[in-house]
Amino acid sequence: MQMMSGFSLLALVLGMATCIHADEQVRVLIIDGQNNHNWRETTPILRNGLLATGRFSVDVATSPSGRQDLSEFHPHFANYDVVLSNYNGSPWSDQTRADFEAYVRGGGGFVCVHAANNAFPEWSEYNEICGLGGWHGRNEDSGPYVYLKNGEVIRDQTPGRGGYHGPQHEFQVTVRDVDHPITRGLLTVWMHTKDELYDRLRGPAHKMSILATAYSDPAQDGTGRDEPMLMTISYGQGRGFHTVLGHADYSMKCVGFMTTLSRGTEWAATGEVSIPVPADFPTASTTRARD
Ligand code: ZN
Repeated sequence: MQMMSGFSLLALVLGMATCIHADEQVRVLIIDGQNNHNWRETTPILRNGLLATGRFSVDVATSPSGRQDLSEFHPHFANYDVVLSNYNGSPWSDQTRADFEAYVRGGGGFVCVHAANNAFPEWSEYNEICGLGGWHGRNEDSGPYVYLKNGEVIRDQTPGRGGYHGPQHEFQVTVRDVDHPITRGLLTVWMHTKDELYDRLRGPAHKMSILATAYSDPAQDGTGRDEPMLMTISYGQGRGFHTVLGHADYSMKCVGFMTTLSRGTEWAATGEVSIPVPADFPTASTTRARD
């Protein structure tokens, strides 16, 4: 057996204490329990999709259902590398909110999935961490509309509601940042399975980068703009990944959804991506779904 020098041993110990190695599992906590979407059906899809990569361990914290009083709901965020929200419901307690803010500010990862960006319109730090949100009374006081026009990011202060979507349909997702670890190596344009195409989301959108967009077609009651679909957010020492995709089971079974969700979750936790792009990734014209 080869002896390890004192320096190597120290480096190993320090390394183990400060980062997650590629062969260690990333600890994920999914939050659900209240949502105007079918979280009982979609949380297992999210969980199984993450587990299938072999990169994650996944726990689920389910809030009391249908209750306004969440004073007993205290997930231990600090036990995890990344928290993924599939939650759109009653406000968390002051203590749980403070714990969550401290967790992300201190370097914890956060992943916001679809209607999780509808939650907590009155909680300014949560909206900072999500970057964009919609519904529940959001308007010009929430921040600008953010979208792409001729490839430029527009921050539009026009007054109006935050959050809208037309009828569900299949649509193309276009990668706008091909150099980011989450999107590197993906086809630049891929066809997503049937989903709601969120539009007119409103800021604050501070320290937010748009990784991918989708064209919100007026023929589908859309805005005629390239709307943000995948975003990253910096908050304190923490990293956020936000996908507005994922309305229902059939939306989440899209290989493009699950690939970007898995890679985004790994990145939010570690700042790096090791999960490969699968061979059955959708093309520009053909959706791909897995059961
Ligand atoms: Zn939805």
